[in-house]
Amino acid sequence: MKLANRVSLLTPSTTLEITAKAKALKDAGYDVIGLGAGEPDFNTPQHIIDAAVKAMNEGHTKYTPSGGLLALKEAIIEKFKTDQQLNYEANEIIVCVGAKHALYTLFQVIINPGDEVIIPTPYWVSYPEFVKLAEGVPVFVEGKEANNFKITAEQLKEAITPKTKAVVINSPSNPTGMIYTEEELRALGEVCLEHDILIVSDEIYEKLIYGNNKHVSIAQLSQDLKKQTIIINGVSKSHSMTGWRIGYAAGDSAIIKAMTNLASHSTSNPTSIAQYAAIAAYKGPQEPVETMRKAFEERLNKIYEQLIEIPGFTCVKPQGAFYLFPNAKKAAEMTGYENVDEWVKALLDEEKVALVPGSGFGAPENVRLSYATSLDLLESAVERIKRFMEKKT
Ligand code: PLP
Repeated sequence: MKLANRVSLLTPSTTLEITAKAKALKDAGYDVIGLGAGEPDFNTPQHIIDAAVKAMNEGHTKYTPSGGLLALKEAIIEKFKTDQQLNYEANEIIVCVGAKHALYTLFQVIINPGDEVIIPTPYWVSYPEFVKLAEGVPVFVEGKEANNFKITAEQLKEAITPKTKAVVINSPSNPTGMIYTEEELRALGEVCLEHDILIVSDEIYEKLIYGNNKHVSIAQLSQDLKKQTIIINGVSKSHSMTGWRIGYAAGDSAIIKAMTNLASHSTSNPTSIAQYAAIAAYKGPQEPVETMRKAFEERLNKIYEQLIEIPGFTCVKPQGAFYLFPNAKKAAEMTGYENVDEWVKALLDEEKVALVPGSGFGAPENVRLSYATSLDLLESAVERIKRFMEKKT
């Protein structure tokens, strides 16, 4: 049977491709170190698991409102007040099946065929796909490595056309770990207000911030910017709850209402039990969040120093999230590979270390290493990369 055209437009996920290859090697008995994962390696905190069990025992195993339980929306509203001094009403929040589903649903309700969405590179792999699935056009603007992979207000202005509908800001960023400062956000926000561009602010890594860096939401900067912004967030990365699938969007009530209508015909609602778990995540003790953040920061500081010693590697030090995004162009050249993609493949074949090539993130000179794995494994991976470089040069 001939499949729908929209399927042929999709780009296969490079992250999943390399993960599948690494798994095949592992299944064949090889000792593979996978640094491709996009999820914390910690278990979900126990009090959250207990809350889910309690919810099941109390019979909360039925449909919920499509946009999520009011009690969860209230917990999210409280979180916005505490963390960002932002005030939302319940009709300005939708709970979805993960932040990914919130983004998918958002683009479905705001994009008409041919509408353009500005996506800074390097980008999280799914953004262009959401836009294409809504028959929109992704417009890429290069976040230059020299500018810590961030775009400037001038670059944003230049990319705007009469068809521009929205811009995506992902801070802290997957894959670069960089954070936009308040000043940078103000400058970008001004351009968006001037041209009436919706700001999609993906803040899923908000809780994973290192050193003296600070997370600021663009919606915090003025009432006008709050109105112009849809915030995307969730518990996947902050509370190590990737499998529970709870994320949300906050912003203009008309957009949220349209998203809720769409969700009512697609998912009906996010899993009831997971919603009770998410209430516990936000209302319960936050120490586990900080414990995980500290563990990530310790790994980052140790592994970053070792990584920049690898010949042919340069790396901007990440400020948040749990990824390193070194430039490996020189490493590929030094070892005789045509490009970084080929170098990554050879590294997996010969040293059994799985990295994700930057080409999938719109940055073909770079590679992504996730440090959501133990320090021991990270150190062994660096040793193997060093050995690979020594052997080939
Ligand atoms: N946004 C970014 C930037 C991500 O990296 C991810 C997950 O990798 C998501 C959103 C999706 O998160 P969720 O698990 O809540 O769907």
